[in-house]
Amino acid sequence: MKYKPLGQTGVSVSVVGFGASALGEVFGSVTDEESEEAVGAALDAGINLFDVSPYYGITLAESRLGKALGSRREDIILATKCGRYGTNIFDFSAKTVIREFEASLARLQTDYVDILQVHDVEFGDPKQIIDETIPALQSLKEAGKVRFVGITGYPPELLAHIASRAPIDVLLNYCHYNLLIDSMDEELTPFMKTSGLGLFNASPLHMGLLSGREVPAWHPAPLRVLQAAHRVVEECRRQGVAPASLAIQFCVAHPVVASTFVGMSNKAQVISNVNAAMTDLDEEFIRYLAGVVGEDFNVVWPSPDGAA
Ligand code: NAD
Repeated sequence: MKYKPLGQTGVSVSVVGFGASALGEVFGSVTDEESEEAVGAALDAGINLFDVSPYYGITLAESRLGKALGSRREDIILATKCGRYGTNIFDFSAKTVIREFEASLARLQTDYVDILQVHDVEFGDPKQIIDETIPALQSLKEAGKVRFVGITGYPPELLAHIASRAPIDVLLNYCHYNLLIDSMDEELTPFMKTSGLGLFNASPLHMGLLSGREVPAWHPAPLRVLQAAHRVVEECRRQGVAPASLAIQFCVAHPVVASTFVGMSNKAQVISNVNAAMTDLDEEFIRYLAGVVGEDFNVVWPSPDGAA
C-alpha cells in the first residue's frame, strides 16, 4: 500500500480508503460475514483509513464497521459523519450533532474518532454550518473525542466556500473526479493547494456506475451519464481491462488528493482494488476513453434535489 500525508494533520493515509457505505447495503444485500471479511482484508492489505456515517444503512454500516474493526480500531484512522440521519432527515444543530455523535461512538465501539465530518453540507444552511455545526465539532475536538474536523458534499464550490470561512482540517468531495467528470479540479483543487487542508475524493466508480454491476434505483445520474458509463465499461471489457481497476488507478494518480474512498462490500473487491492502486496507469488508454465518453463528460445532476 502507498500512503500520503493528509493535509497538515500530521497523519498519513492509505491512497485507497475503505468506504463503508456498502456495508449499510446501499448497493445491495451484504452479510455480516462478508462485511467482516472485507474489513479484515482491508486491514491486512494496509488500508488505514475507513469512512462511514450514521446515514449508511441508517446505522447498520457503523455497527458493522465497529464490530469488524474490534481491537484493531487503534491501528487506523476512523472517519464518521454527522448531520444526515435518513433519506430526508438532516439536522445540523449543535445539540443534535453532539448527541448523535455519542450514539456513533457506541456503534463504532470506541471513545473517539479521528475525523468527524459534517455530512452533505449542501442540504444545510451554510451560515448555520459555519456558525454552529463546525464550532460544535471543534468543541468535541477540544474535549479529545475527535482529532480532526471536516465537511463532505457534492458541489465542490460550496465546499470551498465553507472551508474558507470555518476552521476545518479535511474535506470530502464525491462524484466530481473520475473517468466521467473533472469539475473538482476547476472548483476545488486550486483552493486545496493553497489552504493546506486534506482532500478526500469519494466514489471513483461514480457511485457504482463504473463497476459494471446493476445500477441502484436511487442513482441520481441522468441517462446520458449512465450510457457513457456503460460505453466505458464495455470498452474496458473489450480490451480485457477490469473497469473498476482502471477507474481506481485513475483516481489514485491525482496529485493533490490524499486518499480515494472506494465502497467495498467483500474481500475480493478489496484485494482487486488494492492491487489496482499499486499498478501504474495506462495513460494512453485513459486518453482513448476520454473520446469514448465524449460530450457526456462533466455532466452533473441537480443538488440538493437529486443528490444521493
Ligand atoms: P463507489 O464509486 O466507490 O462505488 C461503490 C460500488 O462499486 C459498490 O457497489 C461496490 O460494491 C462496487 N465495487 C467496488 N469495488 C469493485 C470492484 N473491484 N469490482 C466491482 N465492483 C466494485 O461509490 P461509493 O461507495 O458511493 O463511494 C465510496 C465511499 O465514499 C462511500 O462508501 C463513502 O464512504 C464515501 N462517500 C461519501 C459521500 C459523502 O460524504 N457525501 C458521498 C459518496 C461517497
